[in-house]
Amino acid sequence: AETIRLISSSQVITSVVSVVKELIENALDANATIIDIKLENYGLSKIEVRDNGNGIKVADVPVMAIKHYTSKISSSEDLERLTTYGFRGEALGAICSISEVLVTTMTADDDYSIQYTLDSSGHITSKRPSHLGQGTTVTVLQLFNNFPVRKQFYSTNKKCKEELKKVQDLLIAYGIIKPDLRITLSHNKAVIWQKIRVSNHKMAFMSVLGTAVMGSMVPFQHCCKDPEINLSGFLPKAESDGSLTSLSSSERSFVFINNRPVHQKEILKLIREYYNMVTQKDSSRLYPVFFLNITVPASAVDVNITPDKTQVLLHYKESVLLAVENVLKSLYGPLPA
Ligand code: ADP
Ligand code: MG
Repeated sequence: AETIRLISSSQVITSVVSVVKELIENALDANATIIDIKLENYGLSKIEVRDNGNGIKVADVPVMAIKHYTSKISSSEDLERLTTYGFRGEALGAICSISEVLVTTMTADDDYSIQYTLDSSGHITSKRPSHLGQGTTVTVLQLFNNFPVRKQFYSTNKKCKEELKKVQDLLIAYGIIKPDLRITLSHNKAVIWQKIRVSNHKMAFMSVLGTAVMGSMVPFQHCCKDPEINLSGFLPKAESDGSLTSLSSSERSFVFINNRPVHQKEILKLIREYYNMVTQKDSSRLYPVFFLNITVPASAVDVNITPDKTQVLLHYKESVLLAVENVLKSLYGPLPA
């Protein structure tokens, strides 16, 4: 049973970045507007995510890290109208099985916060009062200690730095899709990235990419009925000389489906084709800068296909691709036949 537990854990939690992702999503599901992420030794010694969200009710605490416990859905029909990031009740339990976890939490009804120590099976072994205010702080110590993955993935300084960059990119994505969210990322006690609260996606995009980039972007909005699809975001302006200013040497493209950052190869490929047409060269080594926010009815997506939920199954992907293509066509003209 322990082996099964570890196998399934290792599917949800494969890296520092996947721990951060799960904890951020839990904070967002709890309506947090401020999230502080503190890493030590690239997250291997410590990952701490503090939020100012709803907190965890005393009655829910004993089961919070028990496999398949979730406070977010209560029937399979709820999956059809999913509005939260989490729904499987796996993350916290999985993190417990590969690290030492402390959870400090306080709801609006509590007088003070309590810090709980969890064991590897997600049970509470001790608790003590804490001084933190409303919200939840999850502290993950010694991730992957005694697991081969720790030696494999984090063997060199370069790999560690890459992982830190991935954490930052992930936070940038949530920062864009959640304009009113304030995020701080610290590593070894120094703040390495921060995003302030802003009032809309445009300002959020600007605050993470810089005003210069924003000047060369055009906003778009596109709706389709039946199936209902809403697209909005920013794409690079095509200059009169046929150039696109917004090409970056690092990944700066952000696609969201119902507020989830996703990897959609087809959409990226499509956008690239149009970019190559406009610039008349193969820009495959440069990344287009864009923000594409796709909203579809919750019943149209199945986020259950990969454990980290970054691949989603769209029940009418063709329609979505067509909608994206319509936006691209109206901005850049049609692709040559
Ligand atoms: P899921 O997110 O799929 O419900 P998790 O294992 O990530 O599963 O979390 C289990 C439960 O713990 C959640 O359903 C929620 O009730 C509670 N929880 C975890 N993190 C937080 C948080 N930051 N704020 C409030 N509740 C939380
Ligand atoms: Mg979760």
